[in-house]
Amino acid sequence: MQNKSKYKEIFIAEAKRLGFVSVGVSKADFLENEASSLENWLKKGSHGEMTYMENNFDMRLDPRILVPGAKTVVSLLYNYYTDDRQIDLQAPKISKYAYGQDYHDIIKKKLRELMDFININIGKVNGRVFTDSAPILERAWAAKSGLGWIGKNANLISHKQGSFRFLSEMIIDLELEADKATTDHCGSCTACIDACPTEAIESPRIINANKCISYLSIELKGEIPVAFTNKMDNWVFGCDACQDVCPWNRFSAPHNEDLFKPQGGLLDFSKEDWHEMTEEVFRKIFKKSPVKRTKYSGLTRNLDFLKKS
Ligand code: SF4
Ligand code: SF4
Repeated sequence: MQNKSKYKEIFIAEAKRLGFVSVGVSKADFLENEASSLENWLKKGSHGEMTYMENNFDMRLDPRILVPGAKTVVSLLYNYYTDDRQIDLQAPKISKYAYGQDYHDIIKKKLRELMDFININIGKVNGRVFTDSAPILERAWAAKSGLGWIGKNANLISHKQGSFRFLSEMIIDLELEADKATTDHCGSCTACIDACPTEAIESPRIINANKCISYLSIELKGEIPVAFTNKMDNWVFGCDACQDVCPWNRFSAPHNEDLFKPQGGLLDFSKEDWHEMTEEVFRKIFKKSPVKRTKYSGLTRNLDFLKKS
């Protein structure tokens, strides 16, 4: 037990040095409470075209299938909140997480450094690192490890830091002292449900992706259904509406990660700059950005849809 808590202490200190704002530990186990809600969500088709969500059902619920021999799931949060805003209030809106460079590579690199640190300073440890890259219920693990609760907007919320945090995990065969889950502090608040422009939050913590602007503007491959005309609230990539109104985000402090700073004058773009963007400009501005996921064709589809609204 002494080793477990000592290892955890030095491990957390190194994670913080690398820039993670919070670290929580859970025993690698079957996520019993989440099984039926995941099954129901999939059965209702709330995942839209994200058919990959149907695969690896058992693996999603049990990290020991994903990483044989796993004993511990470490959840880590990385801040991406910023006070920076787009200058032109009429310009199509982009989610804060996409202002800078793509977080996947940046965070993965830090997780690998952390893994190397463990191997050098604690001992030989096997495992894998993930950020939005594997069949893992990331929010459920983060909540289980006490990093926050899953709010009615389905985001992980910390009462000290809000919800503008990237989630990542290390699934390892090292035993560490597990943390306790925290309690839900949404109370009677319904601000996120009321603010959602497309009524995608069908009940607390249940998002119908088919109606969610994040899904419609990023994941959906075909045309945006006409039913969403005038409902996209001018979002061109992602949507922060249900986080922006969350009272717990009043406690968000800006990140200090240079790589997340807005790229290529992005926040200065006027409405006209967006609508006149050429493929060449798109490639230049979004070269390292999460926005490149939509490709130029996806972004122009979204822009054209907004224009019609
Ligand atoms: S991201 Fe936007 S569309 Fe999706 S649930 Fe939140 S407020 Fe609604
Ligand atoms: S806006 Fe209110 S209900 Fe929604 S997640 Fe935040 S605290 Fe919970």
